[in-house]
Amino acid sequence: MFADVSFPISSYQVFTYRIPKDLSENVEIGVRVRAPFGTKENAQGVVVNLKRKAGFKGKVRSIGGIIDETPLFDETLWELINWVSRHYITPLGQVMRSAVPSQLSRSYSPPEHLLVQLNSVTAEEISALETRAPRQFQVIKLLENQETGVPVASLNSTMPNTAAVCLALEKKGYVSVARVPRIPDLSDLSITPVKKEVKFNKAQEQIVAEMEAKLRKESFSSYLLHGVTGSGKTEIYIHLAQRAEEEGRRSILLLPEIALTPQIAGRFRAVFGEKVAIWHSRMTNAERAWTWRQICSDAFTVVVGARSAIFTPLKNVGLIVVDEEQESGFKQESPAPRYHARDVALMRGKLSAALTVLAGATPSMESYYNQAMGKLNYLRLKRRYGAAKYPRVHMVNLTTEREETEDYSIILSRLLQEKMKDRLEKGEQIILLQNRRGFAPVVSCGDCGFVEMCNQCHITLTFHKAGETLKCHYCNFQKSCPTTCPSCSSTRILLGGTGTQKVEEKLVELFPEIRCVRMDSDTTRGKGAYTRILTKFSEGGYDVLLGTQMIAKGLDFPNVTLVGIINADTGLYLPDFRAGERTFQLIYQVAGRSGRGDKPGEVVIQSNNPDHSVIKAAARLDLEKYYNVCLSERRELLYVPFSWMAKVELCGKKRREVEVCAELLLKRLRDKPKHLEILGPAPCPIERLRGNYRYQIIFKSSKEKDPNGQSLHRFLQNNLVDRGFLKRQKGVTLQVDVDPVSLL
Ligand code: ADP
Ligand code: ZN
Ligand code: ZN
Repeated sequence: MFADVSFPISSYQVFTYRIPKDLSENVEIGVRVRAPFGTKENAQGVVVNLKRKAGFKGKVRSIGGIIDETPLFDETLWELINWVSRHYITPLGQVMRSAVPSQLSRSYSPPEHLLVQLNSVTAEEISALETRAPRQFQVIKLLENQETGVPVASLNSTMPNTAAVCLALEKKGYVSVARVPRIPDLSDLSITPVKKEVKFNKAQEQIVAEMEAKLRKESFSSYLLHGVTGSGKTEIYIHLAQRAEEEGRRSILLLPEIALTPQIAGRFRAVFGEKVAIWHSRMTNAERAWTWRQICSDAFTVVVGARSAIFTPLKNVGLIVVDEEQESGFKQESPAPRYHARDVALMRGKLSAALTVLAGATPSMESYYNQAMGKLNYLRLKRRYGAAKYPRVHMVNLTTEREETEDYSIILSRLLQEKMKDRLEKGEQIILLQNRRGFAPVVSCGDCGFVEMCNQCHITLTFHKAGETLKCHYCNFQKSCPTTCPSCSSTRILLGGTGTQKVEEKLVELFPEIRCVRMDSDTTRGKGAYTRILTKFSEGGYDVLLGTQMIAKGLDFPNVTLVGIINADTGLYLPDFRAGERTFQLIYQVAGRSGRGDKPGEVVIQSNNPDHSVIKAAARLDLEKYYNVCLSERRELLYVPFSWMAKVELCGKKRREVEVCAELLLKRLRDKPKHLEILGPAPCPIERLRGNYRYQIIFKSSKEKDPNGQSLHRFLQNNLVDRGFLKRQKGVTLQVDVDPVSLL
């Protein structure tokens, strides 16, 4: 027998190998194998086909060994992987590399820890402890609120040496203590593992009832659940996952960036305990390998994870939820496959006959349009749960503010300062958004206008306070900040623009007593840093949480009553058709962080363009209006969701070579269907990146003429793949991005 093997290289070609006798039982489609390939003796590939004849004249080599004893995937998942390969025009071997942990070694198992859970104890028994063993009493009180076992270590924040206390309680039979593997990353997530009485209100009840009915049917159905933040969507997911579990079905919850949303994972943990697996890119290979194996052996009923969790090998999936489906974090930009987890989720839902829910407070244009066209069922939660109300929004025109205060480098307007002072006095909390890290994003000379740029990228360098360095936020190049201008030797170096560090400095200057924490990718590098910051903030350890867009998502702090957006225009004028949509969503989401509890919230938006349609609609928290404006623009220009799009990016060290290659490709593409629009080739807006010149060609195929995108796909497949254009270019690499999210 022979096997065709696909390797994780950017080639569609599969390679034929002989299957040695001793492996003939184990080599199946979907099994990963080791085989000699090129100069490598033991390259790792995946079997994509079995056949009796080699059908190949040259010397056929043999498979060296297998990596997995059984196929990694069931049929559904294998089909999904194949769909991803076709849809995103990416060789199967490459898709596999993204989908599966590189080695599934058995050698690792996570350290164990103690879990404690309350048995049935009578009220008398408990009250008897109160005076005789106050520490035991305290532990019981803590456990009373928990639905599942609680890590003993997590009780340590309330008192020392809880292990001894728990063991004493176990002797009395009041609790059970078990030693179990510490599920990677789960034990860090216990921010709010408190059991909650959930009583759905009418609107929630209706939604739950409809979705439950679909879940029972065991056929594919897809929803857009459009609910304002705080409307109880997460409670609904939890409830549905419980229903699914009762029927023996499994659930996947995708979050845009799980490290940023520990609260949601924590809430699942509170309900499903050790039955929840976490899956994200910050886990180590070993942790992922262990988790993968456990999932295969059906140890978990729920996987909560980032985009790649959509490929985890849960069997019998009944529910897939994509929370905050509009987030660009669901799109993998690099390496290939450049897949969008939301679209893969819909496909997996279809293949698994699962209830598939795309959810969010600000649906993407694509999903909003799809529900309007009847492709997604639409359900809406318009009100926040409980007393929480929409915040009141104030707009500050930064231009007039500068003139009136004669402060031309103003960061915090008078209104924002006043409101902050008020909250600080009342002991309420504040969230401030400045969507740029570092101190100053533009460093220039005050005399000749020279601007510090990255040598490798067409991007300004950002000044960072630590060590007074200049950093490129694209390629991470660093150098120390010059004290004189490299061009004219002037000493007037200006630190222009505003990053989070500058805001922080200003805060301390204005409110010397302030307890402020900065959250951006500089302060959250270490493992667990997010959780630490958020936990301390939620416990009232800080007055102000200041950060980039990472503070906008999914956070629920009842004591936050003021949100300030330092500069709403950041990102508004980027040369990308989604710039407006992103800006709107960011403002809308951050605004939603204010007034989540009983106290009413306020939002102060500072902008230089208060009359810009995007800023205006965001300030009114008026989604429909915004969608309509945006959709009509997109229709006119034939952008998503009115077309299928793809982008081919050409990239190389020499500009001329890239240009020539782009022109050559364009010539190839002359013979195109009429409804297909081709833009470019043109330099990408960020023309130079990490030392490479970048050109792009953009394809738009009208949905009216090409309802399923088949025609665009066939065109790309024929012209790029079948004719070998994707691999043959000297000095230039080509990348295809189907359904691109960013055109920068
Ligand atoms: P979303 O996911 O839409 O942002 P959440 O599910 O986080 O909303 O709900 C916001 C808050 O309201 C949470 O603290 C949640 O526990 C609470 N909540 C929502 N619905 C209910 C309900 N039916 N019963 C009790 N609490 C609820
Ligand atoms: Zn100068
Ligand atoms: Zn750079």
